[in-house]
Amino acid sequence: MEKRDLRTDFPGLTTADGQRWHYLDTAASAQKPQQVIDAMSRAMGEDYATVHRGVYARSANMTMAFEAARERVARFIGAASPNECVFVRGATEGINLVAQSWGSVNIQAGDRIMLSQLEHHSNIVPWQLLAEKQGAHIDVCPLTDDGRIDLDWLEANLTEQHRIVALAHVSNVLGSILGVKRAAKAAHAVGAKLLLDGCQAAPRMRLNMAELGCDFYVFSAHKLYGPTGVGVLWAPEDTLNAMPPYQGGGAMIDRVTFAKTTYAPAPGRFEAGTPMIAEVIALHAAIDYVDALDPEKLFQHEAELVRQARSELSQINSIRLLGPEQSAGILSFTMEGVHPHDIGTILDEEQVAIRAGHHCAQPLMDHLGVPATARASFGLYSDAEDVAALVRGLKRVATIFG
Ligand code: PMP
Repeated sequence: MEKRDLRTDFPGLTTADGQRWHYLDTAASAQKPQQVIDAMSRAMGEDYATVHRGVYARSANMTMAFEAARERVARFIGAASPNECVFVRGATEGINLVAQSWGSVNIQAGDRIMLSQLEHHSNIVPWQLLAEKQGAHIDVCPLTDDGRIDLDWLEANLTEQHRIVALAHVSNVLGSILGVKRAAKAAHAVGAKLLLDGCQAAPRMRLNMAELGCDFYVFSAHKLYGPTGVGVLWAPEDTLNAMPPYQGGGAMIDRVTFAKTTYAPAPGRFEAGTPMIAEVIALHAAIDYVDALDPEKLFQHEAELVRQARSELSQINSIRLLGPEQSAGILSFTMEGVHPHDIGTILDEEQVAIRAGHHCAQPLMDHLGVPATARASFGLYSDAEDVAALVRGLKRVATIFG
């Protein structure tokens, strides 16, 4: 990581009374750098006007800024064209869009959908809604002993009935990283599409859609140091243009008559209504910020913090570390005899913020045999002092419950 103290860019990392806050819940939502806050504020203030409509200069400028953000997203993820990048409310909406639009045409009675045991609810429930409507079946790929999606099993169990495989690129609970190329090859070998839930990967890995070889990719801006209320669905233009609209309204049409309405090409056809203008512009600023730091370096930095934390926490007898050694910035654990909520509450007294709960991954909790875990997740601003504070706090928890 560079020498400059990145924490100074993030007003949210300091408490109201000026203390250092050890924010270890970046996997839930990242803190925002001042650059993003400023971009959002300008877009809501002196630059504000709506997009895609106005004949006056401010609106035309805003439209250019909005579409420049789409170009920036495309460049950031190695998309072939900005038209492949649909702005959605977040990853959740992106997956629902694919399930409802692509799924309604491509998934029929008797077809199968392949998910995995570690998926976030937002990559489970949209498929359940679709499966119920269409009469399709859901299969669940099991995990390896260390908590990775079992690709041997996936390869052996995909069939030509499988129309789509939808997997987390990085697990939000265990930090496990998917072997994407193998998953893509296995899916394509049976003629299925591969959707990747990139919520936890986009802030931590350099993405290139052509290299990944998936068919759909989704992520949320708020985990990428940008604002809430915006995310991206990526898919090749021909795939998007073959999908029926997901919601109807202004901006997504070509021509409306009561006799027949025709639709705009992608991405417009999936962006009904006035979009999240300021949020999209602030996402541009967030991508500029992350890209300048180099996602590959961020990955190494956070993986090293997980290694440090694993090594120190393994010294505390009552702690059970979950997930693989090789993890992307996320570490879950349990502590014998202590509920994760109690861990979280005691750590909070030490200015250490972790997440405790099922992390919207109840099937994974069932697999792990626990109702909840404690999760520390790192961001680009996290450092060894945060790890030390976590370890100190957990030693205190161990003593209290000792
Ligand atoms: N998938 C994963 C892996 C996630 O971590 C999250 C957010 N916790 C989501 C999906 C859903 O993202 P959002 O709530 O921003 O739509």
